[in-house]
Amino acid sequence: MEAGFLLIFEPMPEPYIHLNQVSKSYPGNPLAGVSDIDLQIAQGEFVAVLGQSGSGKSTLLKLIYGLLSPEKGEILFKGKRVLGPQEQLIPGHEKMKIIAQDFNLNTYAKVYENIACMLSNTDLQAKRRKTLETMEFLRIDHLAERRTVDLSGGEQQRVAIARALVTQPEVLLLDEPFSQVDVMMRKQLRADLKRLSTQLGITLILVSHDPFDGLSLADHLLVIRNGKILQNDHPKQIVQQPVNAYVAELLLEANIIHPAEAANWLAIALDEDQRLAVYPYELSLAEQGISAEVKQVRYQANSDELEVKAGALSLTLSVPSGQVKVGDEVFLKINNYRIVKS
Ligand code: ADP
Ligand code: MG
Repeated sequence: MEAGFLLIFEPMPEPYIHLNQVSKSYPGNPLAGVSDIDLQIAQGEFVAVLGQSGSGKSTLLKLIYGLLSPEKGEILFKGKRVLGPQEQLIPGHEKMKIIAQDFNLNTYAKVYENIACMLSNTDLQAKRRKTLETMEFLRIDHLAERRTVDLSGGEQQRVAIARALVTQPEVLLLDEPFSQVDVMMRKQLRADLKRLSTQLGITLILVSHDPFDGLSLADHLLVIRNGKILQNDHPKQIVQQPVNAYVAELLLEANIIHPAEAANWLAIALDEDQRLAVYPYELSLAEQGISAEVKQVRYQANSDELEVKAGALSLTLSVPSGQVKVGDEVFLKINNYRIVKS
């Protein structure tokens, strides 16, 4: 028998996390929540869920973790149904940990205690070793004796992650972990999460309303709106071919150009329900091209973000800083664009 023949009959590997037509609405708020979610996540994947506030991101995380039960559909973890909050004594899956926006720390206890208390006392030596290892991994060992109430937001965030990590979860769910930390800490936290993913192989699901997090970190990006998945793909693929104008705007603040403008200014024919999506970095100033007037210049250190107007067409572009001022007439060149659904 040929090898190729055998392969055909090999059973498909069960997805690690599998959501099958999952819907969940809230009492008195039937349109909110999530609906018809189909999702498969592989072990060790770093998935980012991106959507505006109220789009259903937290609902999705709580469903996966078992803090909410689906009304319709099912959620499987390694082939077994995830139990809802009514079906078990302690809600939440034992192999997963969720880190919510409030860190849920014991603020008057020391950092060490906050982490160690997650482990049982059956093996005190192992408890101590694991706690120390986890603090080292997250570079908070020097804070061991400090009370968490005296820490910065970023440090508290790390303690919260350490608390989750010390129990060696297989899946870590993070709900907007960057919302409480400053810019410097954000950068470190992003690097920490990437390390968790690559060095420990933990499956990470990160919820964020900031596209940068998803684009820079994730293997897989999920864009949701009004409780539905709009697009689920590799970040690069979504940037290159967003399913519609909304995704292009949400992701990278794309300029969305309507058919009439596309025909007028760019001589590109579009159907009524089509749009051109052009990211700000895909436009540049040129010697000749589309004539436009500079309406606004927003300084951004090594670049300027320009707001320009060509007739009725308003466009945003980023250019090397200091080249133009408000009121200047400029010529634009479109270096790249994609056609998307409206
Ligand atoms: P996100 O995390 O993306 O901001 P959520 O999942 O928290 O969104 O909420 C999705 C929608 O469900 C929102 O419209 C929100 O108002 C609604 N919602 C969330 N929790 C509840 C609840 N407990 N009761 C009623 N509506 C809720
Ligand atoms: Mg939320």
